[in-house]
Amino acid sequence: MRATCNSALPALDEPLTLPPELSVTTPVRPTACPGLLRIVQALDGGICRIKLDGGVITSTQARSVADVAQRYASAVIEATNRGNLQIRGVGPNHRALIEPLLAAGLGPATAAGDDVRNLMLSPSAGIDPQMQIDTRDLARQILSSVQSVPRLAELSAKFAVQLDGGEALAMLEHPHDLWLSAFDHAGQAFLAFGLAGCPAHNRALGAVPVAQGHELVMAVLTLFLDLARPEHTRMRHLLGEVPVERFIEQLAERLSVPLMALPQWRRNVPATAMHIGTYPQHKSGRVYIGAVPALGRLDAATLVGLAQLADTFASGVVRFTPWQSVLLPDVRLEDAPLVTRQLQALGLFCDVREPLARLIACTGASACAKGLADTKQDARQLATLLSQPHTIHLTGCQRSCAAAHVAPVTLLAVAPGHYDLYLRAPEHAGFGVLRERNLTIEAAGAWLEARQRSNTDD
Ligand code: SF4
Repeated sequence: MRATCNSALPALDEPLTLPPELSVTTPVRPTACPGLLRIVQALDGGICRIKLDGGVITSTQARSVADVAQRYASAVIEATNRGNLQIRGVGPNHRALIEPLLAAGLGPATAAGDDVRNLMLSPSAGIDPQMQIDTRDLARQILSSVQSVPRLAELSAKFAVQLDGGEALAMLEHPHDLWLSAFDHAGQAFLAFGLAGCPAHNRALGAVPVAQGHELVMAVLTLFLDLARPEHTRMRHLLGEVPVERFIEQLAERLSVPLMALPQWRRNVPATAMHIGTYPQHKSGRVYIGAVPALGRLDAATLVGLAQLADTFASGVVRFTPWQSVLLPDVRLEDAPLVTRQLQALGLFCDVREPLARLIACTGASACAKGLADTKQDARQLATLLSQPHTIHLTGCQRSCAAAHVAPVTLLAVAPGHYDLYLRAPEHAGFGVLRERNLTIEAAGAWLEARQRSNTDD
């Protein structure tokens, strides 16, 4: 199982007149994934993916997105599982959609940079009371380098880095080609790191002081490119041929500091569902409020409403999370109940007990040619059958576009309205253990309710 793009072929209506720094060159590892400059066709129209630095979008930028989504697309805006957003249903006038987004500062620094600016931070970076470090400065350095160092344009559009600052709100289960995780050692902040895995499930291969974090990332990326063949798009492909010990030995030779060995290091795994509801920030008297749009989809009016709330009650920004949800940071504690009600009035879920708040579903058959079922519609039906919240992933095929991690329960479509049911099991690859075949949504709901009565799955 691997996340891929639910895409067909790239298509631009006509060449855009871009600033010189955005002139397009032929990539070493071509991709059909959508980007801001590469609108890709799906059954419901074009997809324009906007990568957000640290998942953050300003209220002004959000209004620009809402405006072009309404004018030049179907006004459907999706939160992605990497803390980005995408506009669906883009019509033929790509130029009219893209140019205002570039003018709003949502574009990459270089054209090649759009594909490789894949750095995921925790949604509460810089504001989380449990963070070991504020990752945002280091993230800016990394993002600047990956977009401006010409060699790094050879990375695949899927190659991705995670920078975890030790926050309580952190997605630690998404596999990344390189992950870094901050921890304290004798009063000094270090970054543990691993390759082709994630902090929750994989061992750290070493650590460096945070001051050497940028150097480490650049060394890993260039060593990957030195060793990889063009068909190696991901770190796991390279490590299938090159022993990880050899990679680390060569990496160590390129660093200005020795790698610290970390045989015992484990990242403490945070509580689940902290992306939904109100939580304290590092700064006293301030909270963030996490809110979930049903199945990760917003419309233009909802995005404008979020921008308005960000301006009125928060710091003028909205953060997108890897749970396909949003977060309003820097809300005054006393305003939180009112802001929560207003988020709910916009149609967002702020309560973990809402069944639909914890269901995720890929695009499905309504807009993806590979989909065997209308996953989004089926998820809505399933939510009405559940008396308790479950964390469930409905996927239209094995590609698992909606979830880079394995959910406690996965429903894999086998035919319209019919799914195989899997339960997550660490010892099983893929979605886990196959427990039931070819269930209707009603049968899946009944199965989950019966199991809930005798057990708890998550
Ligand atoms: S059916 Fe779903 S998982 Fe499969 S390619 Fe389409 S969007 Fe992705």
